Amino acid sequence: MTGIAFVQQRYLPVEEAGIPIQDWGFLHSDATYDVVHLWKGRFFRLEDHLTRFEESMAGLHLSCPHDRDGIREILKECVRRSGLQDAYVEMICTRGLPAPGSRDLRTCRNQFYAFAVPFIWLANEEQRGRGLHLAISPVERINPKSVNPVIKNYHWLDFVRGLFDAYEREAETTVLVDGEDNVVEGPGFNVFAIHGQRLATPASGMLQGITRRTTLELAESEGLEIAERPLPADELRTADEVFISSTAGGIMPVSRIDSRPVGQGVPGPITERLTRAYWALHEDPTYSSEV
Ligand code: PLP
Repeated sequence: MTGIAFVQQRYLPVEEAGIPIQDWGFLHSDATYDVVHLWKGRFFRLEDHLTRFEESMAGLHLSCPHDRDGIREILKECVRRSGLQDAYVEMICTRGLPAPGSRDLRTCRNQFYAFAVPFIWLANEEQRGRGLHLAISPVERINPKSVNPVIKNYHWLDFVRGLFDAYEREAETTVLVDGEDNVVEGPGFNVFAIHGQRLATPASGMLQGITRRTTLELAESEGLEIAERPLPADELRTADEVFISSTAGGIMPVSRIDSRPVGQGVPGPITERLTRAYWALHEDPTYSSEV
């Protein structure tokens, strides 16, 4: 068993789950989603993920057939049935299909899907130990005037281009830029640079990650000086430490950028402190809840 999905009001093994091929969520990427993780049997910041999901749906004129309590219950049931203790739990709302013969978005019956699968790490154990190798992409993230990045979306073809470009340059992942050579975000993560005791991360042009929010809260209690502002690519290249943040793995170090070492070329001490503090929060009942 590799996980449980909820599709068309039924729970089933994730390998058997499919969606109707004509759902515009699939045909047009007309969908939003959110991902929360479960660690040692506890959801991390579930209510924050549900709030962001509701805001994303509202921003796309999507209305979920289940209310917040219903969604929470479905997610818990996927987890219970999967038997997983550490899981990646995704909720999705798609446009669905329009009324027969119509192309009017307002006639679509929006659909809700969910699944719980084993925990997903954007960086594997070896990469977390030595730091990820990152390429700063020449590809620009889709313009926020076209697709609002604050709404969690499946517009990933810019990331896909960036990733193939990174693989050609022997890097493992990539971060995209805006039109002014500031880094914005990568495929599934936010990005941070540390110079001395100063921590900087982009303020706009990217998803407001919940791991990012947690990281900023931790950085504040560590006494770091925090700046949320445009982050020039060169500032990332010259940082003492660089890390990424995502629900899919938490805080993860970057040790090479464009084939050059970051700082000493190994995960830095502030990154390691923040990572330990991040995982410790998973046992704190203000941040985590039992299924
Ligand atoms: N940016 C993008 C494009 C993402 O897809 C994600 C997460 O999937 C993030 C940032 C990080 O957000 P979070 O910390 O809420 O997982």
